[in-house]
Amino acid sequence: MIPFAVKRLIFYAYKKGVMKMLGCIFCQVAAGQKPATIFHEDDRCVVFQDINPKAPVHLLVIPRKHISSLNEENVDENLLGHLLAVAAKMAREKGIDGSGFRTVINTNAEAGQTVFHLHLHVLGGRILRWPPG
Ligand code: AMP
Ligand code: ZN
Repeated sequence: MIPFAVKRLIFYAYKKGVMKMLGCIFCQVAAGQKPATIFHEDDRCVVFQDINPKAPVHLLVIPRKHISSLNEENVDENLLGHLLAVAAKMAREKGIDGSGFRTVINTNAEAGQTVFHLHLHVLGGRILRWPPG
């Protein structure tokens, strides 16, 4: 029998998203608990190599804070701006700013979101067709 106080604690942790964070691979990358090739880190975001790249340059920009997707309510607009600014900086560093690069945020299943921690893809280094599949 689980004591009432423990049940309440579990319920509170679940509501706060703590349980989701514990199982989140990108939270683990941000915390340095999962290996990743990291290109940039600051107090608000981390940039690392996509494990299954779809282009010669394929980086992921993630907030340190666990946000499941753009569908989440009250996503910090300053943070979103920061993620985009860092994406552009990384594109410059990778030398794909001149040739061209694409920033993508997939939201929910039909758009192809597979990891439910907000992330911005930065793709480049080849011709990217439009419209995407
Ligand atoms: P999405 O389909 O938009 O949710 O994108 C998830 C991306 O995360 C995919 O491009 C995966 O290849 C990538 N990915 C999944 N796990 C890892 C990981 N451990 N390290 C780096 N990239 C990952
Ligand atoms: Zn997370």
